[in-house]
Amino acid sequence: MDTQRFTRQLMTGFGPGEQERLNGATVLVAGVGGVGGAAATYLAAAGIGRLVLVHPGPLEKADLNRQTLMRPDRIGESRVLIAADTLRTHHSEIAVETWDRDLFDPLLPDLVAAADAVIDARHNFPERFQINRMCLDAGVPLVVAAMNATEIQLLTVDGSGPCLRCVFAAGDPDWDPLGFPVFGAVAGTVGCLAAMEVIKLISGFAEPSVGRLLVADLWDLDFRSLPVARDPACADCGLRQPTVRAPRQDGASGR
Ligand SMILES: [Zn+2]
Repeated sequence: MDTQRFTRQLMTGFGPGEQERLNGATVLVAGVGGVGGAAATYLAAAGIGRLVLVHPGPLEKADLNRQTLMRPDRIGESRVLIAADTLRTHHSEIAVETWDRDLFDPLLPDLVAAADAVIDARHNFPERFQINRMCLDAGVPLVVAAMNATEIQLLTVDGSGPCLRCVFAAGDPDWDPLGFPVFGAVAGTVGCLAAMEVIKLISGFAEPSVGRLLVADLWDLDFRSLPVARDPACADCGLRQPTVRAPRQDGASGR
């Protein structure tokens, strides 16, 4: 491991053992748009060893206001391939795997089960509920990162607290899955928050925000961390016992 690259984050109290866990980890990022692209950027920068990028479809011109891994000279090409090329340019030591497909693809359960953590950065609730279920089935922690217009939402699901469906049983009818309004900085903000949650989950350093829904509107900077409860009747997690894997304890103790 090139520890010099991570000198500044090791100055925060984050230890070499915790850094080793990041370097040995696989994170699946479901969606590499404005939210997932920012999350992938900062996971790569922090030294996550392997990123699995899942997102269907080609780059369109209107994506460029927020999808900062993309390039205007590659409009029409697969977004996951462009994202992977950009990440490899900046972080040649990490492995990046790409899947140009949606979250209902039959390969997804195996990809999720092989990950140490997952970020949900999709905008539509059918796919978000699908990744929520797959993570619960596989016992893999999930960070749900969402935005609409200038509003952001962040929830970490580790099996001990509420899942996405506990909090949004019927989705959110106000969120248009296509053509939704967005400033790039709003998507980037929640993507960065999600990356920090994943760093905490994998390293065991500091407590992830389980059981609290972070909501904010970036017009007025009103950030709130709302307690949310598990729904005993939840269709996705209601009858389950917690099954999520604990962080690996093979290095310095976390906090
Ligand atoms: Zn639930």
